[in-house]
Amino acid sequence: MKRLKTLFLAICLTSSLASQAQQAEWCKKLPRSAYSKLERVPIADPWFEVYEIRPRVFAIYEPHQLEEVISYLIIGDDRGLLFDTGMGISNIQAVVAGLSKLPVSVVNSHTHNDHVGDNWRFSDVYGMDTDFTRASARGSRADAQAELAPDEICGALPAGFDAKAYATKPFHITHWLHDGDKIDVGGRSLKVIGTPGHTPDAIALLDEKNGLLFTGDSFYLGPIYLYRPETDLDAYVASMQKLAALATHLQVLLPSHNTPAVDPSYLPKVVAAIQQVRRGEVKPVATDGKHEYVFDGFSFLMQ
Ligand SMILES: [Zn+2]
Repeated sequence: MKRLKTLFLAICLTSSLASQAQQAEWCKKLPRSAYSKLERVPIADPWFEVYEIRPRVFAIYEPHQLEEVISYLIIGDDRGLLFDTGMGISNIQAVVAGLSKLPVSVVNSHTHNDHVGDNWRFSDVYGMDTDFTRASARGSRADAQAELAPDEICGALPAGFDAKAYATKPFHITHWLHDGDKIDVGGRSLKVIGTPGHTPDAIALLDEKNGLLFTGDSFYLGPIYLYRPETDLDAYVASMQKLAALATHLQVLLPSHNTPAVDPSYLPKVVAAIQQVRRGEVKPVATDGKHEYVFDGFSFLMQ
């Protein structure tokens, strides 16, 4: 009996060690080497890291959660635009207040939970005029809770964070946006490019004068998620073609996950890649019960 118990203990210990090793896999690879070339801005909150990618353009990165989500603060002469509010695990509004004293409006790349987590803290929020956006603005709990699985957290959650109560809080949209709208922040204009596909309300933001394209979740280096019920693959291809047509006029891509400064030459490569996938020319690998189509620097994660 005792021996059995010992054996049982040994199995438990091994499997818990195994799951710890698994947990550490993505976490162990951090920091990503791309960050060493960027200008880091010191802030007080250890949950976030801030980098100034271009003058008055800040990446606000959350490296302690698997999504490695990146929100951007884009500052004009009159006000700031916050492109996404992150996980809502710590307080992005406090970070933003430390970077600029100007009033700040929120625009979302799309309304998945990991991009709208702190929307509720802001009084001026732009939203795409879609039913998907309206549904997301009502808040939700399941997606937020799933982000806290032990293998999705790297390091410590913020002191005082209440994991049991964690949910995406409802938020209020004060202005409705449409494809082609321009948002003027004073000396800087951001054009809204509708890029439905990942979600119906996905957008990219174009700062034409400075050659910046904020791509949201339509493109980043890493596995691009194209498996949820709200994803539309035909729309995604068309949206990527729209973005790829801009590539030669751009200096840098600023995506919403993993790394905040990427070469625009990836955009036409993504179009070629997704077309190859859709023609059935690429063999997928099995990843988490899904199909992953792997290319150089990025992949598509699909049903
Ligand atoms: Zn998303």
